[in-house]
Amino acid sequence: MKQVVIVIVALVTMLSCTKSEDKLEEDQPLAKGRIVAKNSDFGFNFSDFNVLQDTVQKGDTFGTIINKQNIGDRKVYQIVQSVKDTFDVRIIKPNRAYTLLRSKDKKNKLQLFVYQPDALSYYIFDLRDSIIVAHKKTRPITLRRRTIGGVLKGSLSETLENAGVEAALANRITKIYSWSIDFFKLKKGDRYGITFTEKFINDSIYDGVDNLEASFFEYKGKLVYAFPFVANPTTGKVEYYDEEGKTLRNFFLKTPIKFSRLTSRFTMNRFHPVQKRWKAHKGTDYAAPTGTPITTTASGVVEKTGYTAGNGNYVKVKHNGTYSTQYLHMSKILVRQGQHVNQGDVIGRVGSTGLATGPHVCYRFWKNGKQVDALKLNLPNGEPMNGNNKVRFMQKIAPLKLELDSIADL
Ligand SMILES: [Zn+2]
Repeated sequence: MKQVVIVIVALVTMLSCTKSEDKLEEDQPLAKGRIVAKNSDFGFNFSDFNVLQDTVQKGDTFGTIINKQNIGDRKVYQIVQSVKDTFDVRIIKPNRAYTLLRSKDKKNKLQLFVYQPDALSYYIFDLRDSIIVAHKKTRPITLRRRTIGGVLKGSLSETLENAGVEAALANRITKIYSWSIDFFKLKKGDRYGITFTEKFINDSIYDGVDNLEASFFEYKGKLVYAFPFVANPTTGKVEYYDEEGKTLRNFFLKTPIKFSRLTSRFTMNRFHPVQKRWKAHKGTDYAAPTGTPITTTASGVVEKTGYTAGNGNYVKVKHNGTYSTQYLHMSKILVRQGQHVNQGDVIGRVGSTGLATGPHVCYRFWKNGKQVDALKLNLPNGEPMNGNNKVRFMQKIAPLKLELDSIADL
């Protein structure tokens, strides 16, 4: 939003560098700021006024700005007093735009002061009558729908930039797909399609992306779709799903072993059964017979395999930029570093290597590089959509998918 304001101010400044400016400032030494190039704004016809625009400087207050208009201390005091109930003068902040509308007669008297805290809203101070009034107005927003797509000619950000879409959409898309696409691995020539709505203030000033309606990216030869949907109207939470209604967020299996017994929880203080001393146990232990298959609780890439005196044989899997899981004390490691694994794939077998009293797997969960208690995490819900939602979802995405598929078929 701030950017938009700056753009407008810059635009106004650029457009108004005309020769008449010097002449005007000579005639009216009080005038501060630039002539406004527009014909009308804020509901006023600018040809009826001497119109000047400027930005709030550091140290300016509502009082000092008004005071510079040479309307007298008493009048300034009166204005500040009369608007203080409707307007918190502290919202006057540096670099925001304001506009002065002055009478066209010889007096060049300040008639209206318009302050724009952002591109969307403005305050009008009407000084024309003895009773001074302040109103807050909001500019109308229009939404326009747009679909872009084809083949990638560069990174996602470059692609969006070339299409004149704000960079923030790239971040949104990267986040939505964080479980399913590594955007660094997209290749030139991969197909994509994105349908979204954009906001325009006063039907003309670009104000960024409002809503992502649908998208797909070709990744490793497959089209990965994303459609927003509110499965639970009570929470109103928007989640993204693929074309079959499966959540795009990966979810974790509850345990890395099918049939097991939880023997030790995550705790900052427990008596270590082998070391015979109190220490943190940053994992969850599941006991099972030696040789029981250990599965990765979510898809990802094997980050590390190895052996240490404490961990024994272990495997660590990276699921996305946020989550990793680790499996300790294996009798056998069945994957290698760098290997891609799918949720439920067997990555090793239960054992008691390292510091262990008996066969079990110590399951460790990492979030943003920190070990956390997997049992206490509010992890993405992997429940499939219920029947009603599925019908609603499929109906909603049908036309969106058709639209995207017409791009994919090119
Ligand atoms: Zn453990």
